Amino acid sequence: MKLENPTPINWKFSERAEQLQSSVIREILKVTMRPEVISFAGGLPSPETFPVERMKAAFDKVLSEQGKTALQYGPTDGYAPLREFIAASLSTADCKILPEQILMVSGSQQGLDLLGKVLVDEGSKILVETPSYLGALQAFSVYQPQFESVDTDEHGLIPASVAAKGEGARLMYALPNFQNPTGRTLSIERRMELVETCARMGIPLIEDNPYGDLCYSGEPLPKMLNMNPNGVIYMGSFSKVLTPGIRLGYVVGPVPLIRKLEQAKQAADLHTAQLTQMVVYEVIKDGFLGEHIPTIRTFYSRQCDVMLEAMTKFFPQGVTWTRPEGGMFIWVTLPKHIDSKLLLDEAIQHNIAFVPGGPFYANEAEKNTLRLSFVTVSPERINEGIEKLGKLIKAKM
Ligand code: PMP
Repeated sequence: MKLENPTPINWKFSERAEQLQSSVIREILKVTMRPEVISFAGGLPSPETFPVERMKAAFDKVLSEQGKTALQYGPTDGYAPLREFIAASLSTADCKILPEQILMVSGSQQGLDLLGKVLVDEGSKILVETPSYLGALQAFSVYQPQFESVDTDEHGLIPASVAAKGEGARLMYALPNFQNPTGRTLSIERRMELVETCARMGIPLIEDNPYGDLCYSGEPLPKMLNMNPNGVIYMGSFSKVLTPGIRLGYVVGPVPLIRKLEQAKQAADLHTAQLTQMVVYEVIKDGFLGEHIPTIRTFYSRQCDVMLEAMTKFFPQGVTWTRPEGGMFIWVTLPKHIDSKLLLDEAIQHNIAFVPGGPFYANEAEKNTLRLSFVTVSPERINEGIEKLGKLIKAKM
């Protein structure tokens, strides 16, 4: 049975839905699916790093030994052994994190949405870095906040700007490690100052840290979470250290906040997939990440070096860029008169893609900026792509 003349849809979307927009990156990614395109656009981790066999064995083991639990509904806060494991790994000598401070989420992106839901009202002031992670701006936008852009310099976010602009803010969203999009890292001194400033002003400080483990040398810098566990909401993810397709992340915070987020999550999706949580626990419980993460670091660090070298060789004078100490991104600043969106239109004609910087700004955009990702393209193609991009930029100088 089917209507003979189906009615055309003219339903009214909510005001909230009316102001939703597709992510610019997702739109660009459609173009970059073409194999001839050299894409520095995606924020995708390299599939070379995915531990496919290990995951396969773990799925097998979990399903054989605990199949009925793994395929059943689970608790909203997440699989207890995994939460215990994460709590222990985040604890330091003088800062113990408890499992009840942890909520497992379907990717840290869901954590951003839930935080928006429980912390932001229409018109609430929220503080974000200049520039900031586009996906967070999108997630928070749904709740119609007033974005306040915190000043940054070549060393990242400037804490004094939080003090100057933050009065009454509902949250401060910060990316201290190998920031998306700039690749910058916040010094220990600035972390401490930011933690103190937010604590003094009563502003919840969100520390989003999906790239923190991907440092190219030395050890990761201390987490702001451990500097003040009562004032910081920490977000972690398995996307960049295992695989993004499993959609698994976590939010860590004071228990009253976690209970509130849990209520919001219940309404959103009941709980994060039990099977994937059990599989990830199976994969990491005996220290697998300790061997696996260094291989990702080495791989990404080499890729980054290749791109930086190519940029030095092929980009004209007057163009500057960041030198990340970890993560997946380089941020490029062109001379003021070059609009990177227009440059992208041309670059795509030459089968090169990147993400123009504009959408990463919550307020006034610096249109002469762009983001390059170096992890999914082979060294030869990085060289080829950067050479072509260099020529296109030179033509506009
Ligand atoms: N935060 C940042 C800064 C990111 O770059 C990303 C993914 N690109 C996310 C959060 C979302 O990650 P997940 O896959 O855990 O949802």
